[in-house]
Amino acid sequence: MEDNEFDEEMRGTTMKGFASRCVKRLLLAGPIAALFLFNAVSSWSQSSNYEFNDSHFHLTNNIQEGPGIREFLNMMGDKAGRVAVFGVPLQQEWSYRVDGDRAPSYYLHSDAPFYYYSFTDAMIAMEYKSLTKEQQARFDPMITGFNPADMYAADHVRRVLETFPGVFTGIGEFAIHKEFVSAKIPGEVASLQNPALDRLLDFAAQVGLIVLIHNDIDVPFAKEGAEPAYLGEIKALFKRHRNATIIWAHMGLGRTVRPGKNHATQIEEILKNPNFEHVYFDLAWDEVGKYFVGSPEATASIAALIQRYPDRFLFGTDAVAPADQSKYLAVFNQYQPLWNSLDAKTSRKVRLENYERIFDEGRRKVRSWESAHVSAVKSNMAREARISSN
Ligand SMILES: [Zn+2]
Repeated sequence: MEDNEFDEEMRGTTMKGFASRCVKRLLLAGPIAALFLFNAVSSWSQSSNYEFNDSHFHLTNNIQEGPGIREFLNMMGDKAGRVAVFGVPLQQEWSYRVDGDRAPSYYLHSDAPFYYYSFTDAMIAMEYKSLTKEQQARFDPMITGFNPADMYAADHVRRVLETFPGVFTGIGEFAIHKEFVSAKIPGEVASLQNPALDRLLDFAAQVGLIVLIHNDIDVPFAKEGAEPAYLGEIKALFKRHRNATIIWAHMGLGRTVRPGKNHATQIEEILKNPNFEHVYFDLAWDEVGKYFVGSPEATASIAALIQRYPDRFLFGTDAVAPADQSKYLAVFNQYQPLWNSLDAKTSRKVRLENYERIFDEGRRKVRSWESAHVSAVKSNMAREARISSN
């Protein structure tokens, strides 16, 4: 048997292979039936045998380089089912005056400033659009290329949705207060109290875009026992935007922003308050994972919190432009002690099902907003309606 035939035969034995052959046949039977079956294919590709979905992934790094999306699909392999994919909004400037011939590729490797690089959203959209429908079903692209201190940030998001309808599910990861990063951005410093952020979140809520926000809970090297610097402000922000679906990246932690001894209690205050039912937490980033797997006590404490609120946590890698599969899977593997500490049902929710519920809902809402507000989508739908009624 030729290799190709063998591949074809193998594919034929899978549900997905079977489904795509059915889709091809049903395409002859009319668009409605095909659409129904396309949805069935997407849901078969959900959670089945994957280890995790990834709610936090950067395809590119601080200089907008990274693997192509097909190369990345190979890294996902049979491990990652679906991925919320985005670039990095902040481009590291290569200042010859500061760094000479030493071209910096990471934000900690240069004192030169950042600037907002909106083209990142177009790059992500074009990568996504280069995939087959079945491959696209495994991605939820996010819009990141805006300055959250700018009242026009929401207009950038709207423009991206109009230019690339059918692509995006959310906004983020974007950062307000972030150690080492905020101070490198020229111009007005981002703030949780800035009306520009309110305008952005109002628009996200109106469209149904998932909001993935990075905001440190505290300043680096804070004094133990003091109220975290930004906790009150971020809770006020959450409260002002109860119609938005918000994921608080890293539970507010960072490289040097360690969980204080009251961190779990502070997070639980949010989890148990009905005003914050729209707020979720991701466990992304190896710099955050290090706290939760640092000792058996730390793992037991985060596991107990997750067990009490199993629907509110998402796994994310926060991998940045990984070079190969082992680099991509590192954070998932780092968390093995946590996976071992959760009961099977909770572990499955955090690794797979919470993502599917939250991002499916986001997709549905954004597509429906687009069909009502983006003229290209509206005229396309009208054309398809005409074709199917003929
Ligand atoms: Zn990130």
